Amino acid sequence: MIRVTIWNEYGKDQRSGRAGEVYPGGIHTILKEKLADRDFVITTACQEPDEDDGIPDELLNSTDVLVWWGHLHNHEVHPKTVDRICDRIYKGMGFIPLHSSHRSLPFCRLMGTSCDLTWREKAGENAFIWTVSPDHPIAEGIPPYFELEEEEMYGEYFDIPAPDEIVFLTWFRGGNVFRGGITFRRRLGKIFYFHPGHETARSYYNENVIKIIKNAIRWAAPKSDKKLEVGEWQDPVNEF
Ligand code: ZN
Repeated sequence: MIRVTIWNEYGKDQRSGRAGEVYPGGIHTILKEKLADRDFVITTACQEPDEDDGIPDELLNSTDVLVWWGHLHNHEVHPKTVDRICDRIYKGMGFIPLHSSHRSLPFCRLMGTSCDLTWREKAGENAFIWTVSPDHPIAEGIPPYFELEEEEMYGEYFDIPAPDEIVFLTWFRGGNVFRGGITFRRRLGKIFYFHPGHETARSYYNENVIKIIKNAIRWAAPKSDKKLEVGEWQDPVNEF
């Protein structure tokens, strides 16, 4: 079984208005329901004002893949929490930052860049997500392209290091393109950033979006208890 934790900042802006109507109970609640799978044990967690940010060690240490949704409160996550999350990723935990989590502190730390991008929120702007690595495990069962009827435009330039793989490329009605489904490896941890999921768009009701996140969870889950040996090596493998 893959132990999945879905963390959502779930601020005031998400609890009412259009966001509250589209995702009653919060994005984490809808994601938990949609991602349900016999291979997954899913836990949800929300940002808390405490020093653990709603994700204490006990939960983090029993997480195989961490799905993260942050936006207005990205910068409020404590540096110690960022340390703990990155440390778990280096040891093999999978990490899937969604949508506005491109500016989450753990993702920015892992990238080492600003992770800034261009954006536009325009009602009714649709997008087409193109599969550009059709043989990638995250693209399994995904058609050559599919449409999102409405999504916030995220576009280039996206200030990230060159991804290991670009699995999906998105084109928006307004003409912008975006490296919207990309992978990275940091030590033993696998990372997949995926752009859909504006709080007032219905992208998490799209079956291809959900299939992609499920595929990504399977891909990012640690495959063994491997440990990396780093630092000074005391014993030579062979005499020299
Ligand atoms: Zn958004």
